[in-house]
Amino acid sequence: MTREIFSNIYLIEVPLPNNPLKNLNSYFIKGKKRNLLIDTGFNSDICYEALVQGLDEIGADMGNTDIFLTHLHSDHSGLSKRIASESSKIYISSIDKMYLEYFSKGDYWDDTKEKFMNQGFSEDEFIMNKETNPIIKYSPPYDTVYVEVENGHVFDLGGINLETILTPGHTPGHMCLYVEEEKILFSGDHIIFDITPNISPLPGVTDSLGSYLESLEKLKTLDVSYTLSSHRNAMGDDKKRIRELIDHHVERLDEAYSIIKDGKRLTAYEVASKMTWSVRLKSWNDFPPHQKWFAVGEAAAHLDYLVQNRKINMTKENNINIYSTL
Ligand SMILES: [Zn+2]
Repeated sequence: MTREIFSNIYLIEVPLPNNPLKNLNSYFIKGKKRNLLIDTGFNSDICYEALVQGLDEIGADMGNTDIFLTHLHSDHSGLSKRIASESSKIYISSIDKMYLEYFSKGDYWDDTKEKFMNQGFSEDEFIMNKETNPIIKYSPPYDTVYVEVENGHVFDLGGINLETILTPGHTPGHMCLYVEEEKILFSGDHIIFDITPNISPLPGVTDSLGSYLESLEKLKTLDVSYTLSSHRNAMGDDKKRIRELIDHHVERLDEAYSIIKDGKRLTAYEVASKMTWSVRLKSWNDFPPHQKWFAVGEAAAHLDYLVQNRKINMTKENNINIYSTL
């Protein structure tokens, strides 16, 4: 479904079949000089056809359109090269550009094997995840050329200016876009209204949850009238949602702590298997491998935060990370 939500700002709903996120909200902004497409969908035919149909309905000319990716994940970046015209630039933060280029080289997933095993995954589960994870399956082609932008970069489209705000957490280089005049915030996956954005550690990041909470704090004082998010229901009250997201993570930190207290010594995998998840599956064993991967990542992000804040310890035993209370 495609609609004009504000003057010259269009929402194209791109379906994400068999994915709990359900849809990607892609935004098309018509400027007097140039247009900007924010996020694209998985690199799959279903997403591509929906995006092309939405752009056709608007009468969008990709020959006069650049693309901005809020972050590296393939539900946002996947179609960027396929939908771009010869003149389109594909913008992304310099930090996520670095990760995206690293991921698209096949060896990242082999490099990361050790990290999976550190968290308590078996080798079989690692291989199954690698084969089925949509982030890998639907990623953009390795030869996509990205143009990096920094925090505070302004896209002057003619009649509308959008400024980047670096909001690390969901990914290390996640960016929102802010239209100061109309007080509109494109929040990407930083603020989603119907689901909680996944927070998982990436290589080189010591405390992704800490970064995420800081980025939420940073937006508390931003003057916003309309927040447009990347998944499910596009709009909502940003300040209320920021409070709910912070509360949610405080509860999850308490839950992770209570699982390892009383002298237990557990891996992130074991902690994840004991946490509560809002999925329609009976037990941890029913989780598909890539859902386990998200869940263990989420557990690890909370455990890392507790380690950084000196609430718990992490020790290495036979190359496996073991978490315990102090
Ligand atoms: Zn997303």
